[in-house]
Amino acid sequence: MIAGTTRLYAVLGHPVAHSLSPAMHNANFASLGMDAVYAAFDVTPEDLPAVMPAMRRMGFGGVNLTIPLKGAALTLCDRLAPSATALGGVNTVVFGSAGIEGHNTDGIGFLRSLATEARLDVAGRSVLVLGAGGAGRGLALACAGAGAARIVLANRTASRCEEVASAIAGLAPSTTVERLPADARGWAAAAVTCELIIHATSQGMHPGESPVLPPAAFHRGQVLYDAVYTAPLTPIMQAAAAAGATVLNGLGMLLHQGAESFRIWTGREPDLQAMATAIGMTK
Ligand code: NAP
Repeated sequence: MIAGTTRLYAVLGHPVAHSLSPAMHNANFASLGMDAVYAAFDVTPEDLPAVMPAMRRMGFGGVNLTIPLKGAALTLCDRLAPSATALGGVNTVVFGSAGIEGHNTDGIGFLRSLATEARLDVAGRSVLVLGAGGAGRGLALACAGAGAARIVLANRTASRCEEVASAIAGLAPSTTVERLPADARGWAAAAVTCELIIHATSQGMHPGESPVLPPAAFHRGQVLYDAVYTAPLTPIMQAAAAAGATVLNGLGMLLHQGAESFRIWTGREPDLQAMATAIGMTK
């Protein structure tokens, strides 16, 4: 029951009604018997500068930020953790007595998901990242920060890969970066040479849409990670699975970024099983 003592947390985004984070965090609070509640608020980038300080004054314990607020929050924080600086965005905000602190748990969430669900450590690996939007950029930087040997970037608008490549060069100079032309017909040949393929485009999210890569791009021993978490088996996951690759969707990343946010806010260990069950994931 919500009372005067209840600690408040939330996710802010625009739109945000579809978010699984309230169900995931509230299941964890309930399992741990915490007097806390997690809500979702639709906030535009224009309103964020007024909303964040107001939430701090209102005593919120912390918030998560999602699309399109992660970049906008960078300049609104008093302090940025190295994770937020490295990934160029904030997804976790702590309201402390010293001000507003920005973190980013997306990278660690993705790496933990990969390690626990596919037993894959990206250190020393070749990685193909399809998509250079917010998710593709963040996941490419997470791989670079974790010691990937080679990162191949592919995007429909090839020029967007330039910015990601220079961010990787700044973060991890020893990682080799390659950029592919915009024509997706050449991407399969590059995919075959990579142990990990990350799909972070919005193409092929729905059953019936053609995937960005055909089954010929995949083989046994590879991992295909689709950032999408709204569909259990997307067209590109089907193509990769047909060729014998291990396939994962983005639910594990959602779970582990949320778990890490909870640790940052409370210093406590979450009930991962309760969180996973709440988002329909069988761990
Ligand atoms: P975004 O910033 O809007 O970027 C969209 C990306 O998709 C861009 O690379 C864009 O290429 C590409 N794209 C769009 N339509 C395409 C098409 N028809 N053909 C080829 N490429 C196309 O979005 P985002 O935030 O990066 O999200 C991308 C995906 O990741 C979404 O499916 C989202 O649900 C998922 N995601 C998952 C998580 C998670 O926690 N699991 C977190 C964030 C996002 P251009 O540059 O050419 O436009």
